[in-house]
Amino acid sequence: MKADYLFRNATVIDGSGYAEYIADVAIKGDRIIRIAPTITEEAETVIDCTNLVLSPGFIDVHTHDDLIVVKRPEYVEKTSQGVTSIIVGNCGISAVCAVLKDEVPDPINLLGELDEFHYPDLASYRDKIDSVTPSVNVATLIGHTTLRNNCVDSLLEPANAANVKQMQQVLRKALEQGALGLSTGLSYGNAINSSTEEICALAELLAEFQGIYTTHMRTEYDGIIDAMQEAFHVGRHAKVPVQISHHKCAGAKNWGRTVETLALIEKYQQNQDINCDLYPYRAGSSNLDLKQVTEDYDILITWSTPHPDMAGKKLQEIAADWAVDVHEAASRLVPAGAIYFQMHEDDVRRVLQHASSMIGSDGLPCDPNPHPRLWGTFPRVLGYYSRDEKLFPLTTAVHKMTGMSAKRFALQDRGLIKEGHFADLVVFDPNKVNEAGTFQNPKQKAEGIEHVFVNGVLTYSQKQMTGKRSGRFLSKNNNVDPK
Ligand SMILES: [Zn+2]
Repeated sequence: MKADYLFRNATVIDGSGYAEYIADVAIKGDRIIRIAPTITEEAETVIDCTNLVLSPGFIDVHTHDDLIVVKRPEYVEKTSQGVTSIIVGNCGISAVCAVLKDEVPDPINLLGELDEFHYPDLASYRDKIDSVTPSVNVATLIGHTTLRNNCVDSLLEPANAANVKQMQQVLRKALEQGALGLSTGLSYGNAINSSTEEICALAELLAEFQGIYTTHMRTEYDGIIDAMQEAFHVGRHAKVPVQISHHKCAGAKNWGRTVETLALIEKYQQNQDINCDLYPYRAGSSNLDLKQVTEDYDILITWSTPHPDMAGKKLQEIAADWAVDVHEAASRLVPAGAIYFQMHEDDVRRVLQHASSMIGSDGLPCDPNPHPRLWGTFPRVLGYYSRDEKLFPLTTAVHKMTGMSAKRFALQDRGLIKEGHFADLVVFDPNKVNEAGTFQNPKQKAEGIEHVFVNGVLTYSQKQMTGKRSGRFLSKNNNVDPK
C-alpha cells in the first residue's frame, strides 16, 4: 500500500512522555499506518526529517475559539504553532447552547459579536464546523454561564430550582450530542452569585457520560484555597474528574503560594481525579475588571470602546496622563480589555513543572492587541521553557500538550504517534522552535514549526498556510467518524 507521506529519519517524540527514538513514519488517508526503523515502500511524498522532531499535533485544552474558527476557519494563530485540536467552551462560556437576546453578556462577549451566535444546541454547531472545515479539530465543553444566560431571570442571582432543572435539560442534551463536559467561570460577575449546589446539580449529569468538570475558579487571589476546595467538592459530589483552568496565584500578596496550592492538589489527588492547565506566561488577560485594578503590578490595556486610542498603553501611564488614579482611569476605559502582570515567574514555573499540569493557551482571538499566548504558547513551552531554561525534557513538554491532553479530554486515537492513530502531526526543529511574538508585537508566527498535518492533510508548511484544511468536530462519544 503506497503511503501518502513518508517521514524519513525523524526524531519521534510520540506524546507518551517516554524517550524519543529515530524512525520512519508513514501515513495514508487520515491515519498513521506504519512506524519502523526503516520503511522502504514507496510514498507519494517523502519528507526528510533528519535532525527534526516528529510529534503529535498539539492539543490546546483551554481556548475561547468557539466562533473564530467558524468566522475564519483558516486559523493561522493556532495552526502556525503546531496546534491541531482545540477545546472550546472554557471558563463558563460556550457559544454552543447560547441563546442570546439583544446583547452579549460579559464575559460571553469574549467569543464574538451578537450576530455570530447561532448555536442553540451542539448539533447545529457540529454541523457548522463540519461544513466550514477549520484548520484545526474542535471539541467543546458546555459553559455554566451560557446555561445561566438561557435559564435564569437575572445573572446576578443564584439559580432557583426551576432554573436548575431547565439548565440540566439543556446540558443533558448537549452531553448526549457529544460535549466533553461542563465548564464554569465563577469569578465573573455573571456567575459569582451562583451557588455551589447549583454547580453540583449540573455536574451530577456528567458521570453518566464520563464528562469532565473544568473550572475558572471563584477566585485566584487571596481566597484561592477555598475556591479549590469548592472545585474538589463538586468533583467528589458528582464523581467526575476536575480540571483547574489556567492555574495561577494572582496578586502580589499571593506570589509564591503555588507551593501551597500544588500540595493541596496532591493531597486531594489521593482520593479523586484532579489536573490543571496553564499558559506559560506571568501575565493573564481578559476583559478589564475593576476588581482586579491595582497599583501593585502593570496592567496593559488591549482595547477600549470609549478610548480606542489607549490600546497598547499601560494603565498607570494613562492614569498619569489624565491626572487621575488607576481606578478612575479604568472606570473611564471600560468596556475594555487588559493584560495583567499579576503572577510571579516562580509560580508559573512551579505549575509548569508539576506532573498534573498540561498546556492550554487561553488566547483571546477577537482581541485587536492580544496577549502573545494566542500565537506563542506551545512553541514557548518547547523552546523557551524546555530547551533554553531546561525546566523539563522536550519529551515532557510534548507530553503536556499531546498524550496527556488527549487522554484527559477523551480525544480518541489522538495525542500519540502510534499506528492506527489519526495523522495529526507536527514536524519541528528543536533547535529553532520558539514563539516570535512579544507583548508589544504579539501577532507573529512561531519559529521552527516546519510542517503541520491535520487528519493527514498538510495544512501549514514553511510559515504558510497551504490552503488545505481538514479539521473536524470531535464528539465525546463518537469522535472517530467525521460526522
Ligand atoms: Zn478563565
